[in-house]
Amino acid sequence: MRRPLIAGNWKMNLNRSESMGLAQGIVQGNCPGGVEVVLCPTFVYLDAVSGVLDGTSVKLGGQDAYHESNGAFTGAISMVMLADLGCDYVILGHSERRHKMNETNAMINAKLKVALATGITPILCIGELLEEREAGQTQAVVESQIDGSLASLNAEHVAQIVIAYEPVWAIGTGKTATPEQAQDVHDDLRKLLASRYNATSAAAVRILYGGSVKPSNAAELLSQPDIDGALVGGASLQTDSFLEIIAASTAEAAS
Ligand code: PEP
Repeated sequence: MRRPLIAGNWKMNLNRSESMGLAQGIVQGNCPGGVEVVLCPTFVYLDAVSGVLDGTSVKLGGQDAYHESNGAFTGAISMVMLADLGCDYVILGHSERRHKMNETNAMINAKLKVALATGITPILCIGELLEEREAGQTQAVVESQIDGSLASLNAEHVAQIVIAYEPVWAIGTGKTATPEQAQDVHDDLRKLLASRYNATSAAAVRILYGGSVKPSNAAELLSQPDIDGALVGGASLQTDSFLEIIAASTAEAAS
């Protein structure tokens, strides 16, 4: 039984007091125990948000981190530092980092291994561009992202990660994959993991959907058998909309 996970990716948004206020609002929303909730503020407010989440069931995540643990890497943040601030999760390979900051599968693979070694659960993002979907290449693209990002990991490692399927054309655009389109890719991904690793790991991995998830479409997406939660950008920046998405996942978990 995979526990639903709803993660909010705040990206480079909100100031310190807004970040703390939003975290407070989520905590006060009494997130139901059946769903795991993760907030991913910008690095500089992780500590402030960590203080708000302390002693609650809502977890903290980083939006990225470097693969080295310390040293002369100006501007970089390490997984050890994220752990020190109380992060249980880290988003890796988000499409904005892949496409705007030129991150490669090899770089993501190096980060992912360090995250696992540090005891931080990676949320590995994958997904195709619009032109790749239109050219019928979705499966090939996500397959190569999986193979590259998970290179040299074993089935035991893979069972510990979270995957977020985020079609790039649906991120921040208001366009959402239909529940059927998303379910098809999630199903293919699970079969791919079973063939590359084993059935047990493939069945254990949580695969989130991301791409313009909002209160109006969350329940239908989350009702799909292979969609185990959501990575939410825009709609995670407001208490009400994020709480409504969490509530939609609870309803699905209970049904
Ligand atoms: C994201 O940034 O991971 C995301 C899914 O954003 P949005 O929900 O705004 O499309």
